Amino acid sequence: MRILVTGGAGFIGSNYVRTLLSGTGETRVTVVDKLTYAGNRANLPIGHPRLDFVRGDICDQPLLRDLLPGHDAVVHFAAESHVDRSIDGAAQFAITNVVGTQSLLDACLHTGVGPIVHVSTDEVYGSIAEGAWTEDRPLLPNSPYAASKAGSDLLARSYHRTHGLDVRVTRCSNNYGPYQYVEKLIPLFVTRLLRGETVPLYGDGRNVREWLHVDDHCRAIDLVRRDGRPGEIYNIGGGDELTNREMTERLLELVGADWSAVRHVTDRKGHDLRYSVDDTKIRTELGYRPRVSLRQGLADVVAWYRDNTSWWESPAA
Ligand code: NAD
Repeated sequence: MRILVTGGAGFIGSNYVRTLLSGTGETRVTVVDKLTYAGNRANLPIGHPRLDFVRGDICDQPLLRDLLPGHDAVVHFAAESHVDRSIDGAAQFAITNVVGTQSLLDACLHTGVGPIVHVSTDEVYGSIAEGAWTEDRPLLPNSPYAASKAGSDLLARSYHRTHGLDVRVTRCSNNYGPYQYVEKLIPLFVTRLLRGETVPLYGDGRNVREWLHVDDHCRAIDLVRRDGRPGEIYNIGGGDELTNREMTERLLELVGADWSAVRHVTDRKGHDLRYSVDDTKIRTELGYRPRVSLRQGLADVVAWYRDNTSWWESPAA
């Protein structure tokens, strides 16, 4: 079995690759990653006998057509992933997330390689005050990031409906875990608190997010790759909903700091109030269950950033 992973040097992709290479399995992995600011070779076991790393852009059609033959599956993580950056400038989000995904789908179609797992996000649904989204809910993305992910998500669906390409889409809630670039809430807050600095909490901190450990997300993605159905969409949730204020409280406690370390800053433009997915489908069809409790996962992640300062203090991280 040989799997091509796009964006495999990023946070979730590298976790997925390490999982595929762990143990004595036979799975070979090719990572294609542009190594933007968010990608880092140090996230991967470079030199592993079953890993090939290619620095490349998913918009590069000849490269993809050259690389894909001989692979049995594709897992597509590569994206611009930070909402705040998409508010400052959306062009690269449209290029990578929309055009890049279309380029990958075309290359898979041309070379006959599949299945393709397209890693989408719960943010494509927009914001929900109560209840939880099922997979058939309309896409109403609010940020340029979410809109570009919705575009790629719909392109993935269209390649299945139009061409019969075996594409499966996952829509996951917020991830946390080791190797997450320090711009996102948990690593940003943890690393700043570890340095004795203040942390910037948006608005009144009442925005609600559903958190999932990256290990659980990667297990779910692999279930979809192995046993999911072509053309289907699978929500993936963690079930742990917290306001950003509650998350801040937990991180302060774990690092041993108090509220004097928190600065309230002007809220993010168009900040979605709440995300929540109903993931009954993947639980009943594929037997998915998250295994990492938020309490244990957060304690582990704080310990990881404390023990790996060279990773987050180095320029490449
Ligand atoms: P990340 O920003 O940490 O990593 C993205 C990776 O993609 C980086 O290694 C980067 O170098 C690479 N990349 C960017 N543009 C590329 C291009 N044109 N060609 C090749 N590689 C390119 O992102 P992440 O948090 O690991 O997210 C991975 C995927 O999961 C994304 O598609 C994201 O939308 C989705 N997702 C993330 C979360 C989350 O909480 N982080 C939740 C749900 C879904």
